[in-house]
Amino acid sequence: MTHDIRKLLNIKDLNIKFSDNCVEKIKNKLHIKCTLTYPVDTCLCCQKQGGVVKNGTRSSRITYLESAGQACYLILKKQRYLCRNCGHTFTAETNLVEKNCFISCATKQKIASLATDTTSEKKIASQTHVSIHTVRRVVDAFACAIRKRPTTLPEHLCFDEFKSTRSVKGVMSFIYCDAVTHQVVDIVEDRRLYALKEHFYRYSRQERKKVKTICIDMYVPYIKLIRQLFPNATIIIDRFHIVQALNRELNRCRIQGMNQVRYKDRRLYNKLKRYWKLFLMKEKKLEYTRYERFPLFDSLTNTGNVVDYLLNQNEVLKNTYRVVQDLRFSLDQSDPLMFLTTLYQASNQSLTPGLKRVLKTFTKFKQYIKNTFHYHTLTNGPIEGINNKIKVLKRNAYGYKNYSHFKNRILLISRLYVSGRKEKETKQLFVA
Ligand SMILES: [Zn+2]
Repeated sequence: MTHDIRKLLNIKDLNIKFSDNCVEKIKNKLHIKCTLTYPVDTCLCCQKQGGVVKNGTRSSRITYLESAGQACYLILKKQRYLCRNCGHTFTAETNLVEKNCFISCATKQKIASLATDTTSEKKIASQTHVSIHTVRRVVDAFACAIRKRPTTLPEHLCFDEFKSTRSVKGVMSFIYCDAVTHQVVDIVEDRRLYALKEHFYRYSRQERKKVKTICIDMYVPYIKLIRQLFPNATIIIDRFHIVQALNRELNRCRIQGMNQVRYKDRRLYNKLKRYWKLFLMKEKKLEYTRYERFPLFDSLTNTGNVVDYLLNQNEVLKNTYRVVQDLRFSLDQSDPLMFLTTLYQASNQSLTPGLKRVLKTFTKFKQYIKNTFHYHTLTNGPIEGINNKIKVLKRNAYGYKNYSHFKNRILLISRLYVSGRKEKETKQLFVA
């Protein structure tokens, strides 16, 4: 019986003993009575041998891991000792629970492991039968251990920002990670230039010189920052952001075209509205040979013909579509020359002002976009993935009020239990 309970609860300390009939059910909660005692020879206070005697017990209710869906508490009777030499008293100790603590170490570890997922603190609290404040305390304690300020920088970095709590001074917070191992290096509360400078001056100049590439979106202060603080770093504009900017303008242009014919040609309006996805598809993937029935079209047709027909109705949309598709194709093919030629040729075509603005920005960042083609394995993908997780975390908890707690949770999610294997694999991938 005793050993069964020990196995069931996974208690390894042999000084804890269970008697028969020690499990009691009170209000759907399991109370398991046990005693902790062992012989003591040396006094903890005066270090003298002999003279230590048993001196009664002290009971404490320790929150333990849930068993078969029921909350489980250990009613632990701890042995008290008295030293006849110095008169001091002390209590028996166990690795099951920390000193002066009523929550078992196993529960704390369970809380930390649940906190590495995007579940809310309230949910974790109800699952482990502790209060929300306990969860917060445990999360903070675990995060404190891994929150040590990094002193070294990886060779390849990704920069990005995310919307954190309302108490943050700048609108956005700044996050940066290793582009190879996908590990978050650190989070900075404010993404404005002076705050970032202050943050990065913590690293020595030698350390900053080691950074070879930095992947960023098209946010001008980052470029200023990198030029000043990272003398050897190559700036890479993230390809996802280039495609995103192009697609956004194409969509805007299509909607403008829609609104022009809204009251004149309702059928055309509906067609432009319904087949929005076909415009964003890669041109290669459009179908020209197989004919099918399409709603809003009278005869059999295919996706390629639908796009061609709609483009022929609007000159500006046609030009915009051409430029966007060509630029995206050159990105796919990793052909910087084609990208630049398309960029130059586009300047004397009739395009929407929005796309013209985007192309102007591209021309401005021309030298950095070239790097995008050169280092095609380095993208902001890993950090965008982390950002998505941050968003889910915030949504699950219905928002965070305290920036520090929020940062701790993000660090726990991204850093605790990072397997060495994954790190190795990604490194190999990168070298190949
Ligand atoms: Zn003593």
